[in-house]
Amino acid sequence: MVSRDPRSRRVALGRGAEFDLIRKLLADEGALPEEVLVGPGDDAAVLVGGWVLSTDLSVEDVHFRRSWISDVEIGYRAGAAALSDLAAMAARPVGVLVSLAIPPGGGADAEAVYAGIRQATRDAGAVVLGGDLSRSPGPLMVDVVVVGRAVDAASRAGAEVGDDIWVTGTLGASAAAVRLWASGMEPGGDLRRAFTHPVPRVTEALRLAERGIVHALVDVSDGLAGDAGHLAAASGVKVVLRTDRIPVAAAARSALGDDALDAALYGGEDYELCFAAPAGAVRGDDLSIPLTCVGHVEEGAGVWLDEGGDAPRLLERGGYSHVEGDGA
Ligand SMILES: [Mg+2]
Repeated sequence: MVSRDPRSRRVALGRGAEFDLIRKLLADEGALPEEVLVGPGDDAAVLVGGWVLSTDLSVEDVHFRRSWISDVEIGYRAGAAALSDLAAMAARPVGVLVSLAIPPGGGADAEAVYAGIRQATRDAGAVVLGGDLSRSPGPLMVDVVVVGRAVDAASRAGAEVGDDIWVTGTLGASAAAVRLWASGMEPGGDLRRAFTHPVPRVTEALRLAERGIVHALVDVSDGLAGDAGHLAAASGVKVVLRTDRIPVAAAARSALGDDALDAALYGGEDYELCFAAPAGAVRGDDLSIPLTCVGHVEEGAGVWLDEGGDAPRLLERGGYSHVEGDGA
């Protein structure tokens, strides 16, 4: 849970070029005002009163291609992705602010994008509070600011040695859809839906937080390896993941075969939850969606993969990087 100690209100990030740049950009920030309970580095900032704020940018040809999905779907996934950061803080969504930059020539339908965002927002129990509109000389861009409220916000920091690491749902389906599109194929229903209609795990996060068993929480937006890396860095611990426990989505497995594990570890955009809880505190049937213990916490640093044979190996690769890219 969130610390009120002013020295710990900034949260350490895991490895990767995108996060090296964020570290650099934030290096010169001064002292945080006393109204800020959690500053940069977590899934969202937390202000006095339990207000939780985050922003998420979706850019055409970086996060999606308009030849792959409809404008409504572009809006839906942008909204759901942004709302997922509220789930990662165990915050209840209240509202969103939407900024759209629309390419010229009428190629993108602003109303359709907006309708998708509105639907994702309603599905999460929130409303649209405002926003901004602009012409874009290039790609379609969708920025969604989310506002939520938490009784006791969860944080990426707080995992303890001996904790178990859990994930909700299954991983890899969204990345599998992207890999199929990128190789000229059309993903089937489950894969496509994982990409276009991710479900922010708000209900699940609130239920886990209510039970008081979550030491640290992050959403899986950049792949399990990268996001478990953030949790490890923020908590100052080492996370060991077991290959045989990672809940790779069946549809990803049938589309990608042995590469599905890579999609689950590094692909991203699953928007499931990854959390640390005391050993024995969580039951596999605590939620109405699958819940899998994928590893544990030790003293040390980084994310290590236990493949069942030799000693666990350090994962050098972070999650998917939106500044380096190789995806959509
Ligand atoms: Mg996040």
